[in-house]
Amino acid sequence: MSAAAITVVGSVAFDTIETPVGRAEEVLGGSATHFAVAASYFAPVHLVAVVGDDFPEAEREYLASRGIDLAGLEVRPGRTFRWTGRYHEDMNVRDTLDLQLNVFAGFEPRLGDAARRAPVAFLANIDPTLQEAVLDQFASPAVVACDTMNHWIDGARPALEKLLPRIDLLVINDEEARLLSGERNVVRAARRILDRGTRSVLVKRGEYGAILFSPESVFAVPAYPLEEVFDPTGAGDAFAGGVLGYLAATGERSEGGLRRAIVYGSVLASFVVEDFGGQRLRTVTRDDIERRYRQFVALVEF
Ligand code: AMP
Repeated sequence: MSAAAITVVGSVAFDTIETPVGRAEEVLGGSATHFAVAASYFAPVHLVAVVGDDFPEAEREYLASRGIDLAGLEVRPGRTFRWTGRYHEDMNVRDTLDLQLNVFAGFEPRLGDAARRAPVAFLANIDPTLQEAVLDQFASPAVVACDTMNHWIDGARPALEKLLPRIDLLVINDEEARLLSGERNVVRAARRILDRGTRSVLVKRGEYGAILFSPESVFAVPAYPLEEVFDPTGAGDAFAGGVLGYLAATGERSEGGLRRAIVYGSVLASFVVEDFGGQRLRTVTRDDIERRYRQFVALVEF
């Protein structure tokens, strides 16, 4: 059986990143990029986004070499999205220093046939109005997952709240869960979001792992313990890519399947943070992923 496809809409960007251990200038980033690369280890991915005419052919070739369908990657006159961020000594905390939407302003995503029929949809971090415009075009997605960011919770809350009842799996970090719900405590925050009709909430907690909340159960995983973290950018998106990639590849919808998917997500995230701009994912193999998955299983066995 071949793996079911995933369609992702989100940002494709150039990132300038400063962490306590170094700096990277204008590296390929964006929420949809990190997601698509991670998910491509498991399932076919249709990427829906926009780039400017400054987007290098070499980066297109890299994404295509991962088997990612770029038919939905529109090229518009102008500059590609730019994001600049700086991480604190505690790398769970970062500041956005600069954000330039550029060609994303005025982007009207239109899904092709294959993208529209994909059973798994991921609305990566981008303007919630665009997320909704994409969701409306799907034929009948079996799994709809969504991410967001403080920038949109503050600036586009009504559009985001309108989406919540249509989401099967909301993947957000603890700070975003607090901001969205108005609750300090993460468990209460997740409950509040579930009350709004979202089927399950997966809260990312950086180096402390992730917790899945659904009306029936709670499941927690640690992050893979690494001696050195270089750059956490994209870890959350790669995490979601691993989770949905596994669900698409296996067709799993059971609680156990979702738990295994979350461990795969954690594995992919652990590779991303090992280098700047997700460079480590360029060399990871399926064997590396399986090996670390087994190490993960051993890590939590008791
Ligand atoms: P993550 O570290 O997983 O939260 O994702 C970081 C990625 O999100 C970076 O590669 C940025 O290019 C992208 N990004 C940052 N801010 C935004 C935003 N407001 N909208 C869309 N994408 C963003």
